[in-house]
Amino acid sequence: MTTRILLVEDEEKIARFLELELQHEGYEVAKATNGRTGLEMAESGGYDLVVLDVMLPQLNGLEVLRRLRQSSQIPVILLTARDAVMDKVAGLDMGEDDYMTKPFAIEELLARIRVTLRKKTEPVSKRPVLQCGKLQVDIARHQVWYDQEPVSLTYKEFLLLQTLMENQDIVLSRDTLLERVWGFDYMGETNVVDVYIRYLRQKLDDAYSTKIIYTVRGVGYVIKGEPS
Ligand code: CA
Repeated sequence: MTTRILLVEDEEKIARFLELELQHEGYEVAKATNGRTGLEMAESGGYDLVVLDVMLPQLNGLEVLRRLRQSSQIPVILLTARDAVMDKVAGLDMGEDDYMTKPFAIEELLARIRVTLRKKTEPVSKRPVLQCGKLQVDIARHQVWYDQEPVSLTYKEFLLLQTLMENQDIVLSRDTLLERVWGFDYMGETNVVDVYIRYLRQKLDDAYSTKIIYTVRGVGYVIKGEPS
């Protein structure tokens, strides 16, 4: 069965280019050139994924996403320019959604589309669950449990926890964490790693009176199995 992608992008040249690339990959593409039409089309169903520009006439991409989420769980990849809006996007709790900063390499967008679609169709039993003591992290579903209780994390908190869990007992430097979670080209505050480690500790270590995340002074952070 063909995979159908809804492309919401007002810049004609970009839209045309993306459409051709997506079709070349074998996807069926429908286009909308403003937020309102994009939202209506997405809500009407029948698509497997939405590629959604943020700066759109009539209704911006963030508003489209917010309204769409009231009725649909279709995966969305946001396209954003590197500006003030990007911070807003980066701060969103995006669940299984993703975003890319313009300009981007088309190969990267195609790769992310493949990953997103694969996650959507993977049977639950095949999904990797990382475990550390009483902590469980379901990578594909972006879900975390401590002692069987669900823990609610934002998108970035989750990515940070995932990175630490994938490297259990290995100390990761702030630079490594910054690069893996926020990307090579992150331009914001450099203490963002420490800030997010603090958020994670509040939700895990503090909330469950345990010790999971360790600071290694002068080096970075590590997740270790709890002492029994
Ligand atoms: Ca635009």
